[in-house]
Amino acid sequence: TPKLLEVQGLKTEFRRDGGSVTAVSGVDFHINKGEVLGLVGESGCGKSVTSLSIMRLLKDTPGRIAGGAVRFEGTDLTRLSENEMRRYRGNELAMIFQEPMTSLNPVLRIGRQLEEPIMLHLGYGRKRAREHAIHMLKLVGIPRAEDVVNDYPHQLSGGMRQRVMIAMAMACGPKLLIADEPTTALDVTIQAQILDLMKRLKEEQDMGMLLITHDLGVVAEMCDRVVVMYAGRVVEEANVQDLFENPQHPYTKGLIHSVPKLRQNVRRLASIPGNVPDLSAMPKGCKFAPRCPHAMERCLAEEPELLPVEGAEDRKSRCWLTEPGNPEGGERS
Ligand code: SF4
Ligand code: MG
Repeated sequence: TPKLLEVQGLKTEFRRDGGSVTAVSGVDFHINKGEVLGLVGESGCGKSVTSLSIMRLLKDTPGRIAGGAVRFEGTDLTRLSENEMRRYRGNELAMIFQEPMTSLNPVLRIGRQLEEPIMLHLGYGRKRAREHAIHMLKLVGIPRAEDVVNDYPHQLSGGMRQRVMIAMAMACGPKLLIADEPTTALDVTIQAQILDLMKRLKEEQDMGMLLITHDLGVVAEMCDRVVVMYAGRVVEEANVQDLFENPQHPYTKGLIHSVPKLRQNVRRLASIPGNVPDLSAMPKGCKFAPRCPHAMERCLAEEPELLPVEGAEDRKSRCWLTEPGNPEGGERS
């Protein structure tokens, strides 16, 4: 059986200064049915561009997929026409963003916005779509849902708007939900409620999830596996426990800092001295070399590949130190 989602060699480019820059450069990962995959890294590492590429929502940025494949249950989404893609978007694949106002239409009542994808994808008539919309609003914990359908987005609080967006994303029972920093803009209490809600809905509907976040607490709470991105590349892949207990790549180590225990009060990514490289001025070898405390001469000349980590199952790292056969590499504490 094909994987729920398989991203292979994804490459996404943007036009800039009359030329083009590569924002996502050969990204590989997969998501199994019912699994939550975390995508972490500093901003500017290509996480959001990766998710927009999967959804084929690059038009406004403006960017384009320049190579690779995005297979959803075996179908390569990059090959679909815009019309065919529309059947997947909001139906089998749904996305929620950090700021709900960017995806809610400010001049349309909440009910109307929820009903449209329901009518389009589930083929319901207006009345049945209204009932389903109210059901979804109740499901995400919105009080007086029967009244809220008549409200405009600005009449709701930030937390309520985020719930509406989740209701909208979940309305057609997607098999995959892509959530880009879904709780970053919310205060801690609301954040916990929204995460609980997403977890519950995910389990009830056996949905896969791609969760993009800066917050390692959210990663520990929600994710089964994690992919770490740096400079448009995957630099590490691991299950969530291995990632926290024994990070392999120097970038991951930097993010996690001094190996914290799972669920301790480590929320934000630790800050690493230096900056994410500019897309138009990438270092030649390892893209992390300018910030890496272990950089060697080889790192400046040659870029390592993403390779399995020796002695560890389902783990990958893109670093000369963790290269299979390197006596200094492999699993260690
Ligand atoms: Fe650091 Fe070299 Fe590994 Fe890159 S390849 S992360 S520079 S040790
Ligand atoms: Mg982002």
